[in-house]
Amino acid sequence: MGSMVEASCECGYEGTFPIGGGMATFQEECSFPCLCRQCKRVVDANLLTKLACPTCGSENIIPYDQPELCEQQGSNVVASWSFGGQNGRELQLTDGLYFCPLCDTYRLRFFEGDVCWD
Ligand SMILES: [Zn+2]
Ligand SMILES: [Zn+2]
Repeated sequence: MGSMVEASCECGYEGTFPIGGGMATFQEECSFPCLCRQCKRVVDANLLTKLACPTCGSENIIPYDQPELCEQQGSNVVASWSFGGQNGRELQLTDGLYFCPLCDTYRLRFFEGDVCWD
């Protein structure tokens, strides 16, 4: 029962990413957009396993809720997901300005996508 979030940037970059996990998989799966510094792109990674890029396998990836990828937090939350466990935390994306790997500036924005992809 996750949701989808859409990302787009003035440079033309666009992507759609799942947030959270499905009904049956929410304990093993928590999808969240991450920046892969190796691929220089936004990837969909599972935060409940060892964090690695699904495309190149690099561990040099950062979830988009980290402050270093967000220049300016927006006032509205476009996606959030909390998960428990040993490193339980709340993941959040706002309508602020995020790092775009394509144009290398903080002009990427997230929008609410379709809900319930499970
Ligand atoms: Zn990668
Ligand atoms: Zn861009």
